Amino acid sequence: MQLITKNIFINTAFCSTLGWRLRNEKIRTGFSPGQLFRMEQGKEIGRLARSLYPDGIFVNELSSEAATKRTRDLLKKPQTRVLFEATFLAGNYIAKADILVRDAKSWELIEVKSSVVAKEEFIDDMAYTTLVAQAAGFFPSAISLVLIDKNYRYGMPIEKLFVKTNFTEQVIEKVNTFQTIVDFIDSVSSTPDEPEPQLTYNCRQCGEFSECPGKEIKSHIFQIPGIQQKAVEKLIASGITSIHEIPDSFSLTDNQKRVVDCIKCGKMQIDPDLLKKLATISWPAFYLDFETMMTAIPLWPDIAPYEQIPVQYSLHICGSTGKIIRHRDYLADPHRDCRRELAERLIEDLKGEGSIITYSSFEKTTISKLSTTFSDLFDELQSLIDRIVDLEQCIKCVNHPEFCGRTSIKIVLPVLVPDLSYEGLEIADGYTALMTFAMMAQGKMDTGEMERKRAALLEYCKMDTLAMVRLHEVLHGFLPGRSE
Ligand code: SF4
Repeated sequence: MQLITKNIFINTAFCSTLGWRLRNEKIRTGFSPGQLFRMEQGKEIGRLARSLYPDGIFVNELSSEAATKRTRDLLKKPQTRVLFEATFLAGNYIAKADILVRDAKSWELIEVKSSVVAKEEFIDDMAYTTLVAQAAGFFPSAISLVLIDKNYRYGMPIEKLFVKTNFTEQVIEKVNTFQTIVDFIDSVSSTPDEPEPQLTYNCRQCGEFSECPGKEIKSHIFQIPGIQQKAVEKLIASGITSIHEIPDSFSLTDNQKRVVDCIKCGKMQIDPDLLKKLATISWPAFYLDFETMMTAIPLWPDIAPYEQIPVQYSLHICGSTGKIIRHRDYLADPHRDCRRELAERLIEDLKGEGSIITYSSFEKTTISKLSTTFSDLFDELQSLIDRIVDLEQCIKCVNHPEFCGRTSIKIVLPVLVPDLSYEGLEIADGYTALMTFAMMAQGKMDTGEMERKRAALLEYCKMDTLAMVRLHEVLHGFLPGRSE
């Protein structure tokens, strides 16, 4: 059985079954390309943070025992100033500290995160490392969190990339809480048999849900949009796990009630407002979708860490519902900042009077941001915003039992346009598109792969606008006097 790592500890505190499966290696830990990309970015940030301590010593022994022994030996030497990945072992618990820096009193323990905002989970991470270090007899005098400074810009010296904050007080408070569950975590995750899974609010965000008893339940209560913990607990306590079992008297918001009623009756409902909303569209209509990219470390001037910048768009132009006149697209050169070029091409391609149809408010926000970045294009870009109609707002007039209150294009398309699918596309979601372009821009692809990925990006974005054209056509068919 594995030693208890930070991941096992935190997950066992979340759910005993989950912790047991992790410790007993029952969970397949494959990573999606998106997760791998995030991990790569995290590693790069860690490497840059370490580069600020040129006299740091890396504890890179592979076995836990050897790494622990080396850490102990190095900590004893007065000439050791900085340690990376110092390893602590206490009973069945193991932890690694990203960076230890000797200070006047003792040592400062530093956790490095590739994020621009401090999250509660980071306190948990630091508290776990401190808990194990203390149990192994090492008491840091300060505990700090290093994050990416959102004010960093391309070309600044690397020390400006980071901002360090002392969290000693909050971490020690959390360590005291963790101490009360140390024995429980060890015993519950080492029982011969898996602890019986208990359906709780936590299951809602658990990757193991499909492997737990809840998987058999049709129309699960977790499908209710925005359902609060209290409501879930109340339903579970009454033995209710399916939407079909919820009594009419149960308190829900208007939107939740609308979704629940629709699932219960199993029939699609159309809000009469759909007619009014679709009537605001004028022809020819320009169906527009952007793709963006972002990186932790900006690649070009005047871009903040993790700033989403547009790099691609697709445009289907229709003369009337479903009648495509032409298609236009744009995909930036990944070796330079093409925002200006994209904005100018967009203005050119959207010339005319008709509505610009988007799906969500993202395109509006993106054009607005471009208009403030390029002030000489402000008026032209703002006039595009005036023409935008958000098709998602029209879809919200359709309440379908299979939507479960959601309206993302990936949910509604297979229900309303079953013959059109993202299946089989090399790039089939926005995050993969973002990550693919970022990898090209970071120079992580050879020319052959880049050509293939560019074609896949164009195909994916084109599919998004084609999906909008087809969804609009279906909505049009729902109007009174039209055949469905
Ligand atoms: S789905 Fe629920 S019970 Fe199952 S492992 Fe996850 S949190 Fe635990």
